[in-house]
Amino acid sequence: MSETQDKPKQPQRMPPVVTLDAKFYWDNATEGKFVAQQCSDCGEFRFPPRPMCPHCHSLDTDITELSGRGRVYTWIRPQHPKPMGFAELPTVAVIELEEGFRVVSNVVGIAFEEVEAGLPVAVEFAPTMKDKQVPVFRPVSVKGGQ
Ligand code: ZN
Repeated sequence: MSETQDKPKQPQRMPPVVTLDAKFYWDNATEGKFVAQQCSDCGEFRFPPRPMCPHCHSLDTDITELSGRGRVYTWIRPQHPKPMGFAELPTVAVIELEEGFRVVSNVVGIAFEEVEAGLPVAVEFAPTMKDKQVPVFRPVSVKGGQ
């Protein structure tokens, strides 16, 4: 007997706080794409999003789709105050992306106690209120056991 079939569950997660510089990032996430700014002149990634390249001072930028793969660098479980919009305490992690820079996100699909440094993860998207999506990371098994 299902108690959930009458009411489709609405996302409880807060939508992203969107700034002008980062609007492209969140808009793409809602479309299911994980992207970053990449300097049109020197090719370095620019994260967090900003108008000027910190390496060559160029104002020209491309939006590049990322692999979505990375590894857990470090992680915490915020307990107080209790994060809003989560049924269970989320695991907040710094993910080192294949492209060489780090993002703060959540790790899902694994107990907090089982997360370890270097854990291979891949991006997926979690729905939020207001019909948005945000990137989160889930553990993946690595081919060849590396
Ligand atoms: Zn540059």
